[in-house]
Amino acid sequence: MTILNGKQIAAEIRSELKTRIDALRSQGKRAPKLGIVIVGHNPASETYVTNKIKACSEVGIDAVKIAFEDTISEKELLEEVAKLNADTTIDGFIVQLPLPSHIDEQVITSAIDYRKDVDGLTPENVGRAAKGLPCIVSATPRGIRELLHRYQITTDGKHIVVIGRSNIVGKPMASLLMQKHAQGNATVTLCHSHTGHLKDICRTADIIIVAAGHPNLLTADMVRDGATVIDVGITRVEDKTTEKGYRLCGDVNFDEVAPKCAYITPVPGGVGPMTIVSLLQNTLQAYGYSK
Ligand code: NAD
Repeated sequence: MTILNGKQIAAEIRSELKTRIDALRSQGKRAPKLGIVIVGHNPASETYVTNKIKACSEVGIDAVKIAFEDTISEKELLEEVAKLNADTTIDGFIVQLPLPSHIDEQVITSAIDYRKDVDGLTPENVGRAAKGLPCIVSATPRGIRELLHRYQITTDGKHIVVIGRSNIVGKPMASLLMQKHAQGNATVTLCHSHTGHLKDICRTADIIIVAAGHPNLLTADMVRDGATVIDVGITRVEDKTTEKGYRLCGDVNFDEVAPKCAYITPVPGGVGPMTIVSLLQNTLQAYGYSK
């Protein structure tokens, strides 16, 4: 069994990105710039934003945090999105989710110019991904595809079960893997909370990608010997023995599933770092569009 070291692969990709961005600068070009919109004071969101800004600075991407109180209206936030769309100094931007309940996430994310949509959430990018056209791919699926690729785990001809149908992970992941492409060509089954016989379906999978936000959902009896398991889940579980008072829990019962696997990702240190580095790759891609 091999543990897929997302932390290490992400560090390698950051180093590659830094080399590319240093080269741009030495040619007298400006650095890529990412905007990060955050509304309110959700502690998990604050942590994600801090980590994203830190990752940007490590590779030489300028990052700007654009913070609003949670009293901002949907209309006002739409106006801010329009300003960012028009801002020629910003190559790409994200709106950190979740948003307060009085703001419709679909309305806001759909208003982003798709060339600046570095989270790959606009209907244009989702549609282009589904058609197999060039587009900005949502960061977590992009990171998972890259992690599989760098460990030479092929998807061609494999049966891949994706658990979870969110717009940010499950659906774009399934869409990518079914494409007629060297890093696709898989037979994909998309499972969700209304799926019957989840265990039986998972037992036929060569690769299982679980993004349900349900700690320990995937147990050993659901995994066939030699499978690859990718754990996207991140849930904060109270743990008074830790300094922070919580620990991060994946969707896989790692201790019992890992011995059956050929490859498995840990939580933390698996998919999470790959998601952040993919956002950096997407920003560089958007920088290319803005030239
Ligand atoms: P979500 O919370 O929007 O939706 C969860 C999905 O899982 C739904 O489609 C639901 O139908 C499905 N689901 C829930 N319980 C299930 C069950 N018992 N059986 C089958 N399907 C079930 O999903 P999300 O935003 O994709 O997040 C999923 C998890 O991944 C969360 O823990 C989130 O924190 C984490 N996440 C991690 C990263 C990362 O970089 N590692 C990125 C995004 C999300």
